[in-house]
Amino acid sequence: RRDAVRERHRETASEVLPEHTGLYVGGEFVDSAAGETFDTVDPTTGEVLASAARGREADVDRAVEAAWRAFDEEWSGYGAGRRQRALTAIADTIEAHTEELARLESLDNGKPVSEATIDVRGAAEQFRYFAGLVRGNDGETMAEGSRYGQVIKEPYGVVGQVVPWNFPLLMASWKLAPALAAGNCTVLKPAEQTPLSALRLAELLTENDLLPDGVVNVVTGYGEEAGAPLTGHPDVRKVAFTGSTAVGKEVMKAAAENVTDVTLELGGKSPVVVFPDVEVEKAVRLVSSAIFYNTGECCEAGSRLFVHDDVADEVLAGLQAAIDGMTLGDPLDEETDLGPKVSREQVDRTMEYLDLAREEGGQFLAGGDRPDDEALADGCYVEPTLVEGLDHDSRAVQEEIFGPVLSVFRWDDYDEMMTLVNDVDYGLAGGVVTNDATKAQRAARDIQAGYVWINSYHDLVPGLPFGGYKQSGIGRELSEETLAHYQQTKTINQSLR
Ligand code: NAD
Repeated sequence: RRDAVRERHRETASEVLPEHTGLYVGGEFVDSAAGETFDTVDPTTGEVLASAARGREADVDRAVEAAWRAFDEEWSGYGAGRRQRALTAIADTIEAHTEELARLESLDNGKPVSEATIDVRGAAEQFRYFAGLVRGNDGETMAEGSRYGQVIKEPYGVVGQVVPWNFPLLMASWKLAPALAAGNCTVLKPAEQTPLSALRLAELLTENDLLPDGVVNVVTGYGEEAGAPLTGHPDVRKVAFTGSTAVGKEVMKAAAENVTDVTLELGGKSPVVVFPDVEVEKAVRLVSSAIFYNTGECCEAGSRLFVHDDVADEVLAGLQAAIDGMTLGDPLDEETDLGPKVSREQVDRTMEYLDLAREEGGQFLAGGDRPDDEALADGCYVEPTLVEGLDHDSRAVQEEIFGPVLSVFRWDDYDEMMTLVNDVDYGLAGGVVTNDATKAQRAARDIQAGYVWINSYHDLVPGLPFGGYKQSGIGRELSEETLAHYQQTKTINQSLR
């Protein structure tokens, strides 16, 4: 079986890998200045998928220069209509390549191809949504006394964008679409674990002549080597980062050197609160998807469950049954529920937290280890895990594990429960499961987070802003507010005297 999976992955790779894996600078694929590369590994088979250019400071400089050239010579002269058409054409192109991009993402990240398909559709949707927002940003005027005031929105020029590996193409699109809609050129740095879908997107831009050369540039490489010089670059006027809170703090410091505007989408440790009136089956479905979707590698993952005493036994039994029924396997199989994690390093990280949870007195109601299955031995798999009995102060509860691990807490006193819900440094998202509309509203208001779902989870739709409270970030994606993050305001105050 392992041989068959390897064979299938090699064959799929030969069909969907990008032809070019150099840096995408000024509309061309080029080697890094030092001529170095790094490998990206298929987390299902452990085999090297491709080698991409290892960008460093000199490469970032070259990309930023190319972006400014494109801005000054072409893109700043594009009116709203042309930008709108360009964004729409990008959306159409992504959609036309959905199957290929989904398989590529599945190979590079390990996510089930069914989920990768949702990502690709979401990526196209981003460009469509921001194409719609391009118009109607014409500013305001004030005619007061002998004064004529205008407030106009201008792009920054060149922006720097750094994204993580959990939704590689989708996160790249969340960044690129609003930046371009607002009239900026950009340098994007994908995560080193998953550079391929951004490179394939770059190929599609060039093959289909969708943008002037240099409007989008992609510098692949490691965080310290390529990300840091980009976020601290004096000619980058705005930095947008998605990733861990620890790195987000570094990015903010680097941006501070040049007083560069910065938005951050960071980690989370989101709660899901289950009230006693719920239909158990529905609650189990929501809680399970909140934590196990994308193998728990979601910033908004509902990783802390607060379930009311009256239904706790039933809900936990339902979750155990749901976990028993999950298929861990080849992400290219349509019926796979959980693929491998993105890398060995991420497996080790999750396993460290599971060991810690064990030491801290946690009892595993399900999972707690790597699967004991010969067929999965090549891949970065971790069992879906339920752990109860941990102190809410323990590290395994307070820190983001970014894996398929759910900590369970039972409650009967609403206020005590809500105190724990909010007793974390993060505030990205939360979920409430109940049929009682008043309780749902109250809990949604009480949860200190930027996004709260009632009777749903993970449903992120353009038009509803997404972003964090507390150490989960600064700024909002998916909304008009996002467009504003990529614009600066100019006031012109004219005397009519
Ligand atoms: P990470 O912070 O390690 O890396 C993210 C990106 O930053 C990568 O491209 C990396 O190369 C780059 N990077 C690393 N060091 C850097 C530095 N010093 N300067 C500039 N760039 C640097 O995070 P990760 O492990 O790749 O991703 C997982 C994290 O991302 C989780 O914490 C998750 O919650 C978060 N995330 C947040 C959102 C959101 O919208 N809030 C979405 C997805 C992921």
